Amino acid sequence: MALTLDTDVRELPGVGPTRAKALGRLGIVSVGDLLSYFPRSYEDRTKICTIADAPEGESVCIAAMVAQPPRISRIRRGLELVRVKAVDDTAAMTVTFFNQTYMKDALRQGERYLFFGRAEGPPRARQMTNPVCEREGQGRFLGRIMPIYRLTAGVSNNLISALVERCAPACAEQVDEVLPTQVRLAHHLAQSEFCYRNIHFPESWEALEMARRRFVFEELFQLTCGMALLRARREEKAGTVFSAQDLDKFWALLPFAPTRAQRRAAEEAAADMASGRPMNRLVQGDVGSGKTVVAALCAWLAFQNGAQSAIMAPTEILARQHFLSLSELLAPAGMRLGLVTGSQGAAERRRVREALVRGEIDLAVGTHALLSEGVEFRRLSLVIADEQHRFGVEQRAALSAKAGERSPHVLVMSATPIPRTLALIVYGDLDVSVMDELPPGRTPVETYVVGENKRQRMYGFVRRLVSEGRQVYVVCPAVEEGEEGPEGLSDLKAVTAYAAKLKEEVFPELRVAFVHGKMKAKDKEAVMAAFAAGETDVLVSTTVIEVGVDVPNAALMIVENAERFGLSQLHQLRGRVGRGKHRGYCVLMSAERGEESRKRLRVLSETSDGFRIAEEDLRLRGPGDFFGERQHGLPQLHLADLAGDMQVLKEAQKAAEELLASDPGLRRPEHAALLSRVKSLFSSRGDSFN
Ligand code: ADP
Ligand code: MG
Repeated sequence: MALTLDTDVRELPGVGPTRAKALGRLGIVSVGDLLSYFPRSYEDRTKICTIADAPEGESVCIAAMVAQPPRISRIRRGLELVRVKAVDDTAAMTVTFFNQTYMKDALRQGERYLFFGRAEGPPRARQMTNPVCEREGQGRFLGRIMPIYRLTAGVSNNLISALVERCAPACAEQVDEVLPTQVRLAHHLAQSEFCYRNIHFPESWEALEMARRRFVFEELFQLTCGMALLRARREEKAGTVFSAQDLDKFWALLPFAPTRAQRRAAEEAAADMASGRPMNRLVQGDVGSGKTVVAALCAWLAFQNGAQSAIMAPTEILARQHFLSLSELLAPAGMRLGLVTGSQGAAERRRVREALVRGEIDLAVGTHALLSEGVEFRRLSLVIADEQHRFGVEQRAALSAKAGERSPHVLVMSATPIPRTLALIVYGDLDVSVMDELPPGRTPVETYVVGENKRQRMYGFVRRLVSEGRQVYVVCPAVEEGEEGPEGLSDLKAVTAYAAKLKEEVFPELRVAFVHGKMKAKDKEAVMAAFAAGETDVLVSTTVIEVGVDVPNAALMIVENAERFGLSQLHQLRGRVGRGKHRGYCVLMSAERGEESRKRLRVLSETSDGFRIAEEDLRLRGPGDFFGERQHGLPQLHLADLAGDMQVLKEAQKAAEELLASDPGLRRPEHAALLSRVKSLFSSRGDSFN
């Protein structure tokens, strides 16, 4: 059978319907998928020692001959072992297999094998337990660097390795070389075929590093190209023209003067919407910088031009909050607002839907429910997404599709500061307005980094603030099974257990509630609503509260195990307090004695500049985090761990920019492979180049 990249894995020997299904769960359907399924790590099985020389306690391969027939013995019910004596020129060793009775027949007296495992005992009483073994000279699993793959039930590492080993030699050369030769040469990148073979079965550690570097480069290069193409494509489309208005009329609606940053962002958005091309703008600003005002201005502009707008928030409570505050602001200007959420009653839902379709609502405020079938507009021309990292690009696109033929203007608001170095990759297809200024009179959240020894004092501080009428957040990391949570509590239930402890032992006189990600959405919303209404004093939570609910009365944020969070995330979290007229405090509890982690956290007590913090985070933790789950909109990166790859990132970006400058649409024949790869990479995002 001639293998090609399109060959279905079911045609490979040893893959039946059950295994094919299991492989499908890993996204492996074809031979091509198999080749692109990169190992998550590697095990060094290259080191071959003699029995006498093997360093005690280290994992090594030992080549030896089976000296006597293997013997089986039954220790007790359910525990059988096979013992083998193996010898080489230097010594003898005892190899023991637990519950692998088939080894009795697999190993033959007088034959030579490679055993990989931990060498134990002194040279004269060498032992190995449950080693991996194969005939000497076979070189399938031993004597080489072994790939370790991410697995699922029904798929073993040996299965994937064996399949890849079968396909890679024949198929690695079939993968199109997407990097233009001059780019490859200029950046010293190895050829595609070499890399596909060596990312799976590296000839050496150097070869692996070469393959890895190329794939990281390739991935970032494609991403940059794709973003640039999306942008170019968008700029060709026609957008509704919103005629320029006297913005002072809008500013006069506000109970306060806009900040300079708000003015700038608003003017940039207004210019986009008057340009004849669809706006695609991101407003990026710290929590509390007043992004909602910019959104309101855009909706107001649309209204002045007889068009409808929709603003989508990530949670119901946030949608309600926006609905109330925007109504207060915009109703006096004659705008009609409607709320669209999942929990509305049937009658209310029908009323709003009818009003929307008849054009009797100018601004729809809602949750994902806005995307439902049956929600239709008469003339939707502006789509606003709040807290963009909770929305995929697909969802933005789905809402835009409700605008009909014409591309609507799109405004995205985000409080996640992305370091300048990454902005192009993360937001490459958006224009960005940065709001780097807070409304006047805000004092930065006073932030302290403390250890366990200050815990009682901190509890005292909580009591004092609550007695003054304030409210408190306590955030715990989502702890993995078996890890230590706050106060030594283990596993994810830590939040519940910790809340119970606070309630019963620490603050019996206070009203304590908790909320975590595993709760039903409805229950979560109810707990949050009660806190917002002031019915709870202390709210214990995982990071579900990260999203911008406004509780002006909350004055203190405590973060347990703060060292587990990224600085940017902590900065986001503390933005939840000090939003009203009360001073905001943040206490970062860190059990870790390590000076490094304390030093990292201290950045937060020194500055409240979100961008500086993001840059610092990037410097300390590498860019992997920024490409993590927070950025749903991006195509998934294979080599997610980009830590330490900043240099490659910059090189790839620069190379992509240069290439696009010389061939803007990637139309030259030598760029055809690249263009087709980029298209398929982005096709799953709901974006299209056609
Ligand atoms: P975010 O950028 O986090 O979405 P919001 O839009 O929710 O911020 O604004 C936070 C608070 O600041 C709101 O209560 C809002 O009314 C207030 N605010 C916004 N702009 C100004 C301003 N220019 N002056 C004073 N207060 C403002
Ligand atoms: Mg907001």
